[in-house]
This record gives sequence, structure tokens and C-alpha cells, in this order.
Amino acid sequence: MFQCLQAGIHHEWDEETHQRKQQREEMLSQETPQQLQELEQETQKPGTEEPDFYWEAWIFAAMVIWWFCIVAGVLIVHYFSRKSHDPDRNGESENNSSGDEEQNLAYRSQVVNDLVDDLLCAIREHLPKSFYAVLQTAMKVGSVFEGWDPHEDDAVYQMLVPLKPPCGYTFHLELGSTEDIPERNFSVRVQLECTCTTEQPSKERLCLLHNPEKNLSRNEHLSLLNTLCTRSYLDIHKTALWFQKQVRSAWVLVPQSHHYNMVVLPSSCSCKLRLTSSSMRSLLVEVLFGVQQGDSDIFLSSQSSETAFNPSTMWLESYAVAEFKFFRNMALRVPYNSIHLKCLQIFARIVVGTCYSTYTMKTIVMHLLTTIPLSGWCRRHFLLRLMDIMGCLCCCLENARLNHFFFGNENVPEEIILPPALRTAKPFNLFQHIEEDPDTQAEALGQYHFLLERLQMLLFYGH
Ligand SMILES: [Zn+2]
Repeated sequence: MFQCLQAGIHHEWDEETHQRKQQREEMLSQETPQQLQELEQETQKPGTEEPDFYWEAWIFAAMVIWWFCIVAGVLIVHYFSRKSHDPDRNGESENNSSGDEEQNLAYRSQVVNDLVDDLLCAIREHLPKSFYAVLQTAMKVGSVFEGWDPHEDDAVYQMLVPLKPPCGYTFHLELGSTEDIPERNFSVRVQLECTCTTEQPSKERLCLLHNPEKNLSRNEHLSLLNTLCTRSYLDIHKTALWFQKQVRSAWVLVPQSHHYNMVVLPSSCSCKLRLTSSSMRSLLVEVLFGVQQGDSDIFLSSQSSETAFNPSTMWLESYAVAEFKFFRNMALRVPYNSIHLKCLQIFARIVVGTCYSTYTMKTIVMHLLTTIPLSGWCRRHFLLRLMDIMGCLCCCLENARLNHFFFGNENVPEEIILPPALRTAKPFNLFQHIEEDPDTQAEALGQYHFLLERLQMLLFYGH
């Protein structure tokens, strides 16, 4: 099992760590807490090497979880059934089961999907042809559509609308500072393109580059540059405001306007909609904008970095489409009732308020999904997989290294289309800040125990 982890996260194991790993594997194969204790005692014998804090952390984690397995195994087995019969969930029927929840999620997802599709159709029909960015079919992204969002009722359904240049224009992606990897950023320069030879000239469609004075729609052809750009670069804030205006105009044209009250919420980099049904249930929808890199699943996204102020012409590289595709494809291959999303949901819930991000946990789960045999994600291996995730996190903290899933990772499934440069890139360390600062590492390791306690609480008491 841990060989898989090792392969998945590309650890640089030294000899000492290797020996410990072997002990660890032997220990796990025996599956008795007594041996866990013995092994821990051995590491603390006088005269042996100085006890390693990180190793202790791992032992501690393994012991607690394993003891938990033995003492409270029955409770854990019933974790799902208890959750599924909680009468308060969603304020709906007393017999609300996990199946019902999944159906609700599927229903709401379909509502959001249809709504965004209908809005895009209505907007496209009422825009002057070809003079604004062309809105492509919206794509599902984010934790709700991937099926592990921990927020339940206040979940935000995110959809990414790819933008293509209209006829007569091209988008040139200009890479910004490469030091910001993995949040690489780009500027999208909008240029006029010669269409003299690529289409039949007509009065309405003369080449904008070579016949600007003859083009009757010259004012219109400036629309893209004037409305959506700043100094010829596609502007996120302007694009968001323009789209919000289009949505307000198009709302009365879509059938959903008879069933929902819609409010456009303030946002400078997306279009956030709150829909309220007649029964006062709310849906939060966020439409993001994207520019595709070639024909790959990697986009530039309008979603700004939460931690930094970015110019409105800076588009961040986003892996959201590739990640959604990854989870969608995994869902077809894992066993029935696979617990991989449940595991991720649990960790997304318990890392709140800690120094670990949900993206860290998501990355670990994605690595494990491509290294552990998929049959191992069935319900009866629930605890083992939770242990794997905790163990993997501990190893990553210990080594100050967690590789980004899409950078130079040969385990990325082939159906995920990556730009060639990304497939061959050097692995990128998401824990670079930990690697560079021992204090940060110590703090992160300190919070590991806290995370473990939270996991126990959640499994025992459900909160
Ligand atoms: Zn031309």
C-alpha cells in the first residue's frame, strides 16, 4: 500500500526512511495494535537513534486509528447508515437517505445545468453576431459537481463558460511570470485577424483588418475591444460586468424565470446568481469564464487567486475542468458505493480552520486514486483509506513535499488532455512553503494531531 503512496508522490526516501517504511509495512501486514506499540517502544529505546518527531506522529496516527478500528468498528460500519437516517438533514423527509441526497444533488445539478444552458442560448440569440466573445457550452467544475462538497445546503454550483474569439479576431495567450507556478498566469491579447481568404466576403463580413473603412459595422466591431478589453487585453472585470448585464436582460426569456426569483450577486470576476424557488429554497450558481489552452482540458480562468490582488487582465491557469473530468471518469471505474468521495468530503470538512487546504486533501486523494487498486475503495476498506490519506499527509509533511497532480505526473489518466509542456514538466511541490520554512513545517505537523482528533470526533459523533 505505502509503496503506492511512495510512487504516487515521488518521495525521495533515504535509507533510514526506507527501513522505517519496511517496518511500517510489516506492522500493517500483521494488523495488531500490540505490534504498533512494540514498534513505537523500539524506536524509543535508549541507545537507539534519537526518536524522530515525524515518525512518532505517524505512529501516533496509526495507533489511534487502529485502536479506533478495534474498539469502535461497529460504530464506524454504521457511520453511513446513521448519516443516511438523520432526520434533520436538508429539512426534508424523515426517511431521507443517502440515496435521496444523491438524487437531490443530481436534480439540483440538472436544474443548474439547464438554467445556464438556457441563459447562454438566450444571450447568444440576442447578441449582435460575431462582435463579442463567443460563449461556448458551459462546463461543470468544482466540488459540488465532483460530488464531495462539504457545504450541503449553501453549496455553490460552479460552471465555467469558455470564451472564444469572434470571427475576425484571435486570442493570443501571453504567459506572465513563470515563478508563480502552479498558479501560472496569462494575459489574453485580442488581435484582429485577416479573414480575406478564410471566408466568403460579404457586405456584413468584410475583413476587419483590411477593410475597416468599408465595414458598415465598424462601431460594432470595436465592441469586443471597447467593452471587454483593457489595452487590447481581455479584461476579467469588464467581461464579468458585461455578462451580468446580459444575464439580467436574458432572464425573462428563459422558462426558469417562472419558477425562480433570480438575483445577480456582486462579483468582479464571475457571475454569481442566487435562485430562490417558491418554496424559498435557494440555489447558488457561479458562472466563471475561461479561455482554453489549445485543445487541452487546462483553461485560463477568471477566478482570481484568493490570496493576492491580481490585475484584471491576469488570467490564472486552472485545472478545474481536468479535475472534474478526472472524478467523472473515476466514478465509472471505482466499485459500486465507492467511498473515495466520502473520504474527500470528510477531510474537506475537518481541515476547515487548519493550515491544510481542501486542495491539499484533494491532491492527496487524486494521487491515491491512481496508485491504490480501485477495488480498494469499496466501503469495507473505509478505515484503511482514511488511514492512507492521513498517512500520506504525514509523509508529505515529513518530507515537505506534495507534488501537484498535473505537473509531470505519469499517472494522470490518458483521457485527461494536458498541454504537452505540463506532461513533461518537472513535478511541482505544493508544499514549497513548508520546505522553505522549518517553522511552518513544525506548525503543520502540530496541527496534524488536531486533524486526527477531529477525524475521530467526526467518525464517533458525526460532527
Ligand atoms: Zn484581410
